[in-house]
Amino acid sequence: MKITSHTKVVGILGYPINHTLSPQMHNAAFAHLGLDYVYSSFEVKPENLRGAVRGLRALNIAGVNVTVPHKERALEYLDELSENAKKLGAVNTIKLEGEKLCGYNTDSEGFITSLEKEGNTDPEGKKILLLGAGGAAKAVAVSLANQGARKISIANRTKERANALVTMLKHIAPQVEANCLPLGGDELNKCATEAQLIINATSVGLKSDAMPPIDANALHAGQLVYDLIYSPAKTRLLAEAEAKGAKILNGLGMLVYQGALTFEIWTGKKAPVRVMREAIMI
Ligand code: NDP
Repeated sequence: MKITSHTKVVGILGYPINHTLSPQMHNAAFAHLGLDYVYSSFEVKPENLRGAVRGLRALNIAGVNVTVPHKERALEYLDELSENAKKLGAVNTIKLEGEKLCGYNTDSEGFITSLEKEGNTDPEGKKILLLGAGGAAKAVAVSLANQGARKISIANRTKERANALVTMLKHIAPQVEANCLPLGGDELNKCATEAQLIINATSVGLKSDAMPPIDANALHAGQLVYDLIYSPAKTRLLAEAEAKGAKILNGLGMLVYQGALTFEIWTGKKAPVRVMREAIMI
């Protein structure tokens, strides 16, 4: 890769940021298509977010991804938002368009593409249990509702966040039956048994062997268990689900497809999805 004064700079803002696979994924795609871009990572503490986002324009940085914990707060510093970013109240992609900083959210479409292409699962008419109510859970819930899910039950440690997500779903997709449950306990396990699709969007199991508070005996053949975590590649939840005969999928595909959409927003070129995936195989 030859970097010159013409090279367009893109990157990712997050804190901490040392876990990210996005630089290797995007740089492989740029190299494959011979595009004069370079992707770097920027560790941005919460107190510096405003300066970092405003600085994109000053430094003529072509675009950035935004990750934990900045996805919601970054919105405040942008000039324009896509419909999806507005709906979700969160951005994972910023592009400098002329003098304007424009925000997008590709997480929800990335998730649905992965679910359909890799999980061979169409959410339409399905009963779904979603663990978590953070930024990623929100993107997942909205995309499932948009795709015609029949029922979405949300279980989260902090009940107020689950309630807020249910309220939002009822507002944007009143046809979907949405309810919330406490984590752990019989009600959750009954719901897990009945669900055709179970999604872990909590960070429980990230870089650890922890199991989300759901009884493994509720998992069974005929279900798809999707864990948004991709490191480790097989979380304890996925291992337990596989042992019970359920189909399993980790979050690597979501990472690749959200990245591919971001790549297309920045460059206007079709993303080399296979190359991006191979660059981050773990
Ligand atoms: P947030 O910080 O917004 O949300 C974290 C969620 O995890 C909340 O629901 C939180 O509950 C829950 N949680 C955290 N710790 C615990 C615990 N000890 N017990 C029970 N619940 C807990 O993060 P994100 O939504 O952005 O990310 C969530 C997960 O999804 C992460 O593992 C992240 O790596 C993954 N992810 C994967 C992506 C991909 O492309 N594959 C994209 C984005 C995220 P509470 O509300 O109570 O705090």
